[in-house]
Amino acid sequence: MRCPCGCGRRLEVMLLPGVTPRWDLQVDPDGRPTLHPSIWVQDGCKAHFFLRSGMVEWC
Ligand SMILES: [Zn+2]
Repeated sequence: MRCPCGCGRRLEVMLLPGVTPRWDLQVDPDGRPTLHPSIWVQDGCKAHFFLRSGMVEWC
């Protein structure tokens, strides 16, 4: 996924089996993803947000 702050960075947080830390991904019946816990880009733009039902919630 692209960083939602608009910096264009690709976030490599995703869901590789056996990788820690990892994020739990839930997809609701409408196909909207929810990630837990929050995503924190620790270098670059420092974006920190949740993804809930496909919507970005900034921290
Ligand atoms: Zn960013």
